[in-house]
Amino acid sequence: MSSDIIVIGGGIAGLSAAARLSADAQVTVLEMESVTGYHASGRSAALIEEKYGAPSVQALNRESMTYFREGGYLSPRGLLIVAQADDEVAFRADVDHLGVGEISPREALDLVPVLDPAKLGLAGYHAEAFDIDTDRLMQDFIRTIRANGGQIITDAVVTRIHHDTHGWHVNAGAEFNARTLVNAAGAWADLMASIAGVAPLGIIPHRRSMARIAAPGGHDVSQWPMFFGTGESWYAKPDAGALLVSPAEEVATHPHDAYADDMTLAEGLDRYQQMVTEEVTRPLATWAGLRSFARDRTLVLGRDPDAPEFIWCAGQGGYGFQTSPAASVLLADLVMGRAPALDAASVTALRPERLRA
Ligand SMILES: Cc1cc2nc3c(=O)[nH]c(=O)nc-3n(C[C@H](O)[C@H](O)[C@H](O)COP(=O)(O)OP(=O)(O)OC[C@H]3O[C@@H](n4cnc5c(N)ncnc54)[C@H](O)[C@@H]3O)c2cc1C
Repeated sequence: MSSDIIVIGGGIAGLSAAARLSADAQVTVLEMESVTGYHASGRSAALIEEKYGAPSVQALNRESMTYFREGGYLSPRGLLIVAQADDEVAFRADVDHLGVGEISPREALDLVPVLDPAKLGLAGYHAEAFDIDTDRLMQDFIRTIRANGGQIITDAVVTRIHHDTHGWHVNAGAEFNARTLVNAAGAWADLMASIAGVAPLGIIPHRRSMARIAAPGGHDVSQWPMFFGTGESWYAKPDAGALLVSPAEEVATHPHDAYADDMTLAEGLDRYQQMVTEEVTRPLATWAGLRSFARDRTLVLGRDPDAPEFIWCAGQGGYGFQTSPAASVLLADLVMGRAPALDAASVTALRPERLRA
């Protein structure tokens, strides 16, 4: 089967890229699972915090806001940092980095009434953090791909890739051919490059676990902000009447169907527990996902320097949703040979070349 562009990966990175590319080209998305969004994209905390990430990630976050707002994908959440009084150095670093304003412990308790007044010494808050409707975002990108005549093929495990004068030949059960190949395989991005004979870039998956617990003390948690321990040592976030709590670990691993580590979860729940009055009960559910980072924790978007029709769309780390509207526009601009709408310094910071130096 022939198309102009093959995209490997049906997560948010591949779907958003394919949606943008499908406006100008015949696109086929190959996804190894039987559904899209099964791996990292099905396991996120679904937040956008504009100040979260390296400068070029923040540029993508900023540039994505209009798309999110116009599409009605955002709802108010807010971000709260809580600390014990003796944790002031780490607290100040977080306040500076995320640009939150310091508030009194009393005000923090009004936001999250289960915080322990005996422990809470310092708090910082801003309202400019939003929940993203990630399901609708992905479904809308899928609709765009199909409306533009593109295809999404599930249960298509890419096992062999080779390139010749006719372009790329990709085996995923059947053979798929295209001039251009977009590597949006998440944790498997380096593996896909190796299979294609392209040098990997050192994109390393890192596990992050999550527990869903019942709303503490039977509170209505729906209006609570997302709240963080200092240095992102744990976080908690309302989720459909319950509370997500993450130990916020970053454990380097190999690409696989990730699952929560019980000991890591127990330790993270304990760190959360130390700041609240309500006892943590048995989790309702647990899971983990892989956040895949390049060594500078910045996305990798653009043509491979040694294989120009091999396009990297990888290293989304902990920012894949919040960056997706702008990252996918940049990717399509680069593939289609248009001058990028994104500022030149950010475009350079995102290029694959930097990782070969
Ligand atoms: C716990 C957690 C919390 C997070 N919170 C947030 C948040 O609040 N905000 C935010 O913006 N981001 C967040 N993230 C990050 C975000 O989820 C990821 O950056 C994003 O989902 C990555 O998308 P992706 O498409 O690159 O990867 P994936 O969703 O993993 O997609 C890659 C796809 O490639 C497919 N694939 C791999 N190999 C092959 C092959 N050989 N053949 C065919 N298909 C293949 C896989 O099956 C997979 O579906 C969080 C992540 C985690 C784990």
